[in-house]
Amino acid sequence: MKFALVTGGSRGIGRAICIKLAQMGYPVLINYNHNKEAADQTKTAIETNGGKAHLLQFDVANQSETEQVLSAWIENNPDDYIAILVNNAGIRKDNLMFWMADSDWQNVIDTNLNGTFFTTRAVLKYMLSKKFGRIINIVSISGINGMTGQVNYSAAKAGIIGLTKSLALETAKKRITVNAVAPGFIETDMTKDLNQDVLKKTIPAERFGKAEEVAELVGFLASDNAGYITGQVVAISGGL
Ligand code: NAP
Repeated sequence: MKFALVTGGSRGIGRAICIKLAQMGYPVLINYNHNKEAADQTKTAIETNGGKAHLLQFDVANQSETEQVLSAWIENNPDDYIAILVNNAGIRKDNLMFWMADSDWQNVIDTNLNGTFFTTRAVLKYMLSKKFGRIINIVSISGINGMTGQVNYSAAKAGIIGLTKSLALETAKKRITVNAVAPGFIETDMTKDLNQDVLKKTIPAERFGKAEEVAELVGFLASDNAGYITGQVVAISGGL
């Protein structure tokens, strides 16, 4: 059976993606780091609508934990495989570069960029052997254009874009597509400290996006209809 794994599926964009992929018929593995209560809410939302979901706790920034949890799941589920991987887990720790602490640089690179690498490598072998897969990496407009106060986050997201393009070349002949989705400002916990009234004046659509709107795009890229799209970065930013 084909499963979907969504990192950071407990809240925000990741939760909306879990719900969308479950609606498309995939049993969903909801990864989270600390917030089990929120992950349980995602699971309940899926199950209430007749879908299937399981929680999978690991810190994507921790290589051995990520590999241990995923290899245990793979070993315990020999008839199933992770066909859809959404690398969504992410954090931001903004500051002007002049003031940026080493730990804020390192944590953002570890979670966003290294987490994408560790998680993808752990499931890639099985996608290659099944000759099918969809990998969707959640990046950001900040990784394309840059953003004041985000050298760490922009560098991490730009790094994931490079990973996306190179991996797409490596896997296309095995029917594995690898794409990136680059949201602008989306209403989630990550952006709740931002001043929407000020920022929405900079967005052509004059509003923040919704997590469900991002999930629709991810759902399309995960679908069979998107089989000829690979190595691309699709922005969802209200024109920003
Ligand atoms: P959010 O509401 O803050 O949720 C972050 C999610 O990531 C949570 O589920 C969290 O799990 C998980 N997470 C964080 N660190 C993790 C780790 N080390 N291991 C496993 N899971 C971890 O963020 P969001 O706004 O939905 O963002 C989702 C993705 O979209 C991120 O990659 C973000 O960079 C990107 N993005 C967001 C926006 C935006 O405007 N919101 C714009 C562009 C890109 P816990 O609940 O356990 O903490």
